[in-house]
Amino acid sequence: MKSTADIRNLIREIPDFPKPGILFRDITTLLQNADGLKASIDLMAEQVVAHQPDCIVGIESRGFIFGMPLAYQLGLSFVPVRKPGKLPAAVHQVSYDLEYGQDSLEVHQDALSIGHRPLIVDDLLATGGTAAAAAQLVQKTGATIAGFSFVIELSDLNGRKKLPDDVPVTTLLSY
Ligand code: IMP
Repeated sequence: MKSTADIRNLIREIPDFPKPGILFRDITTLLQNADGLKASIDLMAEQVVAHQPDCIVGIESRGFIFGMPLAYQLGLSFVPVRKPGKLPAAVHQVSYDLEYGQDSLEVHQDALSIGHRPLIVDDLLATGGTAAAAAQLVQKTGATIAGFSFVIELSDLNGRKKLPDDVPVTTLLSY
């Protein structure tokens, strides 16, 4: 099986995307490699079993790419957290600040409830704003967050600080 070092080598770096000064970590080159893709899901699954999740919450859209196979691998159900206006039934909504402006995330009100232990999954933890908003959404349903799982963490940005203190965070790669 490929190691985390192999997975790191499959992540492409794109300077000045989406704007000047940003070094974008591009996971599409990892997805193009069947062994690398399989290893990333297998390793994430190994990391998160200890958190004892009973479902996976994936954040649109790259959180779906990793969250859904993780749910399948662990034999768990999957709940999508989506951008505004995409989910058809009644939703909870949380707004959060971006560098310029605001964005929102939504989840179906009946997707989770008290007693559920979802694991929140995304491709990358940067400032933590997106994952923190997903956490607030999950908390609105009454569910208890079992943990967070990311492929990549940009550790200089201290995203973990925005996440609830008592919830475990696992990442495959730290930059
Ligand atoms: P945060 O809210 O600042 O933690 O940013 C995390 C969100 O932005 C995640 O949903 C990522 O998909 C996306 N993101 C930020 N930087 C990158 C990057 O370098 N590569 C891929 N996605 C990124």
